[in-house]
Formats: sequence, C-alpha cells, structure tokens
Amino acid sequence: MDMVAATPAAHVLVFPCPVHGHITCMLHFATGLLAAGLHVTFLHSDHNLRRAAAASSPRLRYVSIPDGLPVEHPRDVGRIVELMESLKTKASVAYRSLLASLLLGDATGGFPPVTCVVADGIMSFAVDVAEELGIPALAFRTDSACSFLAYLSLPRLLELGELPFKDGDDLDEPVRGVPGMESFLRRRDLPSQCRDCSDPDNDPLLQIVYGFTAHSGNARALVLNTAASMERAALAHIAPHMRDVFAIGPLHAMSPTAPAAGGSLWREDDGCLAWLDGQADRSVVYVSLGSLTVISLEQFTEFLHGLVAAGYPFLWVLRPDMVGASQSATLREAVAAAGKSKARVVEWAPQRGVLRHRAVGCFLTHAGWNSTLEAAVEGVPMVCWPFFTDQQINSRFVGGVWRTGLDMKDVCDAAVVARMVREAMESGQIRASAQALAREVRRDVADGGSSTAEFKRLVEFIVELSTTAVAAIKDEEYVASYVNI
Ligand code: UDP
Repeated sequence: MDMVAATPAAHVLVFPCPVHGHITCMLHFATGLLAAGLHVTFLHSDHNLRRAAAASSPRLRYVSIPDGLPVEHPRDVGRIVELMESLKTKASVAYRSLLASLLLGDATGGFPPVTCVVADGIMSFAVDVAEELGIPALAFRTDSACSFLAYLSLPRLLELGELPFKDGDDLDEPVRGVPGMESFLRRRDLPSQCRDCSDPDNDPLLQIVYGFTAHSGNARALVLNTAASMERAALAHIAPHMRDVFAIGPLHAMSPTAPAAGGSLWREDDGCLAWLDGQADRSVVYVSLGSLTVISLEQFTEFLHGLVAAGYPFLWVLRPDMVGASQSATLREAVAAAGKSKARVVEWAPQRGVLRHRAVGCFLTHAGWNSTLEAAVEGVPMVCWPFFTDQQINSRFVGGVWRTGLDMKDVCDAAVVARMVREAMESGQIRASAQALAREVRRDVADGGSSTAEFKRLVEFIVELSTTAVAAIKDEEYVASYVNI
C-alpha cells in the first residue's frame, strides 16, 4: 500500500461491531488508512477495549463506549441478538455523544475533528447517527460479497417462492433468485438465517439481516473485504444497489505491517509453531472453527475420531467455551489419548502464521470469511463445516466455485471427516486450484492489482468527503448546532 498525500485533516472513525472477526478485519483496514497518512480513531466497546491491550500511536487512538449489556453478560453466540439490540438501543446513544464531541477535535492538538465514519454495515444506526451529525459515513461489511448478495436477494427469493422451505424439505433443491448463482446454489447453501423460518415476512432475524444489508445503499459507499478475482460476479450484481462499492481485500494480505495492536481478544499460543517446525511438509491438518462456533460433545467426538482415522498429525484449536459445558481439560485429555503424539491442542492459535507454515496440508474450518480469505491467500486446501450465517454460502463457493476444498456442511460423521480430510490432503486437483487462486488473489493485493487500486480510490474518496466535512466543521455555528443536540 503506497503512502498517498492525504490531507492531514482527514480523520476516520472506524467502528466495528464488537465481535472478534469484525474487529480484526477492521483493524487491518485501519492499518491501511494509517499507512495512507490518515488519522484514525478506532471505536471498541468498553468490554473489548479492556481485553484488547490496545496501544495508541501518533495518528491512531482507541476509544470505547459501553455496549449497553451488564458486565456479567456472556456475549456469546447464543445471545448475539441481545448484543445487536443493545448496540442499537443503548450504545447508539453513547456513540452519538462521542461523535458530537469528536467533531470538536482534540484540544491537546493531537487529533483533528472526525471527518468521516466507516462503520460496520451490520449496525445501520452507526451510519445514520454520523450522517445526522453531518459526518459522511460509509458501510463496511466484513463478510463475503456472495453472502451480501444473497441477503440483498431475499425479497426476490420470497417473490419466487424459494422461501420459506420447511424442516424436512429437500435441501439439495436448486435455488433461483440470487443472480449469477442459479447453476450451483442449493437451499442448504443459503445463509443459515434462511432456514427454519416458516413465516419469512414476519421472521425477525431475516428482517434484520435484510434491513441492514439494504440499508448499506443509503451509505456513501459500501466497502467489502474481498477481491475481484474471488467475487467479481457478485460484486457486479451488488454495485447497482449501492452508491459506490469498493472491493479492497483481503486486507490482511494488503497491510505491509502487522495490524495496529489492539486486535486479538485471545492470547495466541505460539508454541504450536515450534511443534509445526518438527512436522514434515504438508503433513498436518489444521482444525479451527473460529471465534464463535459451538459444538456438542457428540460432534466433538465425531471430529476427533475422524481426524484420528484420517491418519495425519493435527493441530486443533479448542476454545474453552466451544464444546457445550464440557471441561476443556477433559477434552484435551481425550484428544491426547486418541491422537497420541500426532495431536496438538491449543486454545487459540496464531492462525495466519499457522496457515503460512510449510507443514500445514489442509484446513478443517467453519468457512468464516476471514478464515476463508486467509486460506485462499496461502493456497491451503479446505474442508468446510459451516456453522452459521454467511459460512453456508462461503463453503459452497469453496467446494463448487473456486474448487479449493470440500464442503461437508450438515454432516458431522467421523467417516466423512476422515474421507474428506484425506481427499483434501491428497488431491492434486484441489491443491492446484488452491494455489492458482492464491496467485490471483496475491496479484489483486500487489502493486497495480485491483484491490490495491480500489484501496487508493477509497482513500481519495474519503479525503474528498473529508475536505467538504472540514469546510463545514470550520463553521462554528454549524458545529455548535450539532454538539448541543
Ligand atoms: N483466529 C486466530 N486463531 C485461532 C482461531 C481463529 O487467530 O485460533 C482468527 C482467524 O485468523 C480469523 C478470525 O480469528 O482472522 C476468525 O474469523 P472468521 O471470520 O474466520 O470467523 P468468526 O470467528 O467470525 O466466526
């Protein structure tokens, strides 16, 4: 990412939804803005800022607001709707006051007034409040363009009668209505919110996801962490519905430096890299289902037996909160007993380093969008077991479009795990496709590549919006009218 001559007055407030995958992705984005010469204020929730060990630097600072939930709230996947509701109704009030105060700039001289907001697109209020205060706002989505397009197509799916489908209906039926995907999309590949909704017109979850997706059309632009080589067709279908679209990913591969500190909410266990050093090239299966997935004890057992039966050494990320109420110590013992010297378990891995390691031969993953991009950049074959939301459609793209891996969705059976892991480890075809995709994606993020060009265009766009905002902010009466509301 080249430095561009940005106006020093361009100051972007970056506001991710306070969950891990969104924070890491938007931190990479913040790193890119810093490298381009802009000022960045990164907005965490109080809860996450306490965990994130964030270190500010001359043009980057971290601030936080309450997410509105009680301290003891688990903020886990089972209660994520409560978090979203609390952000909209409670955090939005603190956000409004914070933004109003940031319009004034920093009296100690370090930071100019905020001139632009880039907010997580799943929090529509964050765009609306900024615009109400006269600050131009962009929507940033951390999930795939293909899932965004599927959400955007929900009214069409209803119109065509593709939704709802009932429990017990054939999930392999093809689905019409998501443009460009008619030849390969099945019911089971639609984002998980489309399942089990008998009355889609009144299903709150579907209404919410459609609502915030369509709302991005009101923002100054939609920013997506994806690459043209992976999602050209979906991007082309999204564009007419948005004021502008920027495809600037995979951001983790664009940043010349490590992301600005303050991202990871877990402590990485680096010991597993030394363990990988002792393994043969492409001999290890890396297993991680991301930061939110939870599985039952039965599913854990199927995975374990399947991994052992596949016969390869494996490195498994087992978060302490991942398998129901089971004690993680007991699970670790079960893995050690079954996997013997071939198994290594960690609570949290330095995933990008692991995927880059020569010893890793395939990735058993939930197909979260960050993980999918990280595997794509490293050319690592995948076996996908999607858990929820966009993961169901991402895994279809892995198995059926990019052909860089296999899609195991809706099945959790030791024999299938063993068969698919072996195939992903051994198939020359899958490896060749994974490496070809990696070459294309790396071209996108290199100098002269499409994502790099789009990032530059985005910085210019933000600088231009900021120039107009700065002119307005200089008008003291204008600022006073907002700050006092
Ligand atoms: N991750 C990590 N260590 C782990 C597991 C995951 O660093 O042990 C990172 C991974 O590299 C990715 C993110 O956590 O950047 C997970 O994001 P993703 O979108 O794949 O899934 P989510 O956690 O949102 O379900």
